[in-house]
Amino acid sequence: MKMQDLAGKVAVVTGASSGIGEASARLLVEEGVRVVLAARRLDRIEAMARELGTESAFAIACDVGDMGQVTALFDQVRGRFGGLDLLFNNAGLGINGPFADSRPEDWRTQIDANLYGVLNCTHAAIPLMRGREGAMISSVSSVGGRYGIEGWSVYNATKFAVVGFHDALRKELGPDGIRVSVIEPGAVWTEWGHNVPDDTMRQRRESLDALHAEDIAQALVYSFAQPPRVLVEEILVRPVRQVQP
Ligand code: NDP
Repeated sequence: MKMQDLAGKVAVVTGASSGIGEASARLLVEEGVRVVLAARRLDRIEAMARELGTESAFAIACDVGDMGQVTALFDQVRGRFGGLDLLFNNAGLGINGPFADSRPEDWRTQIDANLYGVLNCTHAAIPLMRGREGAMISSVSSVGGRYGIEGWSVYNATKFAVVGFHDALRKELGPDGIRVSVIEPGAVWTEWGHNVPDDTMRQRRESLDALHAEDIAQALVYSFAQPPRVLVEEILVRPVRQVQP
């Protein structure tokens, strides 16, 4: 299959310290992309950067819900690279439980990472992407951004919001040639779902033959490596055995 050569492109991957973000950063580096790894756990992303090579990967600590930290992150990207070709808004988390029993601080944690994180990073990235051929903003929503699931209502709210935001942003940035794309994974083997007991999470993923983080990384690289005129607007990718929701 004919794909675009990504060598020399510059990417920011949020939530690069584990799961989908880590796998995506690794695959992008394999494709020759220079990747800025962003996450709160600096020790993890620094170790990855050392392993991947400091010519290819750069670790910057960032809580995406904090506008000041996000501004500092993109200032560093501008200073080092002068521009940006790919923003992968991947950082996020889900906190499980019935809404009636939920705590406002847990709403805020999810909204900060899953929604403000996307808004903060996208707002800071756009000026760095203008005029770069094939530039793309890709954000991770979820199958839970298309369907509500009992026990995940606030998570669903954030992920539905990402889909709506992207549909409007696509219309705003398309005329400038900036591609706006969204990926909606089903169940994936990662650290996600941290307040669900390990056994429950493992059993669910085993029963569904859940996706691997690398499967989502491939969806990202597939969409990014299309010709600049091609927008892969949306990829909903789920384990074949996950028939619900
Ligand atoms: P992981 O828990 O393995 O990874 C989540 C990543 O997000 C970590 O690197 C974490 O890094 C980062 N993160 C969380 N909060 C913040 C924050 N405030 N600022 C910066 N980074 C943050 O899970 P996944 O890889 O599965 O999650 C990636 C995305 O995929 C998320 O948006 C998730 O909602 C989505 N998703 C996952 C599915 C699944 O089944 N696994 C299904 C559908 C969607 P650190 O803690 O170091 O900051």
